[in-house]
Amino acid sequence: MRRGPRKQSSGDYESAVGLEKLRAIYAELAGVLGGWTCDASTDCCRFGVTGREPYPTAVEVSELERAVRARGGLPKRRALPTVSARGEDERRCALLSDEGKCLVYASRPFGCRTFFCERAKGPAGEPSRAAPKSEIARLGRAVADLSARFAPADPGPRPLSKVTAEWGGRGESRTSRARRG
Ligand code: SF4
Repeated sequence: MRRGPRKQSSGDYESAVGLEKLRAIYAELAGVLGGWTCDASTDCCRFGVTGREPYPTAVEVSELERAVRARGGLPKRRALPTVSARGEDERRCALLSDEGKCLVYASRPFGCRTFFCERAKGPAGEPSRAAPKSEIARLGRAVADLSARFAPADPGPRPLSKVTAEWGGRGESRTSRARRG
């Protein structure tokens, strides 16, 4: 049996509306970041390399759950940790494929969309420090506010690695359990 989040319960209209609102915020963010690019090294998907990881809110976790369910569950767990050139565990995101692609790209959390490593470039070649921080912060607050309405008992944020580890172990996230009550 494949590992992954629980099956969707029927008629969860409120969840669907929350996820639609989240996608609208993601679309607005894409407009704000139009023309910004990076070299797609996937370093930011290797948490041991950057020393950072995304902290999705509950509503973002719900969108991720939906996307993981849609693709048939999490990929098979790697037998051994992937090791960096320095001999350390890279701590690869469970949603990064062996080919170096995000398996849930359209549903990736806000933190994956706004990482801005030093190699990111703006539309006219601006350096990453010129990223539109105040607009990003405004949209980050919009996600947090939405999550507070979506899952008042446990809006998050929480480390992405813990979320995917929960899916691997118990088949559903604490967000799903909190929303069911
Ligand atoms: S969710 Fe996707 S983009 Fe975000 S860290 Fe994981 S693999 Fe990378």
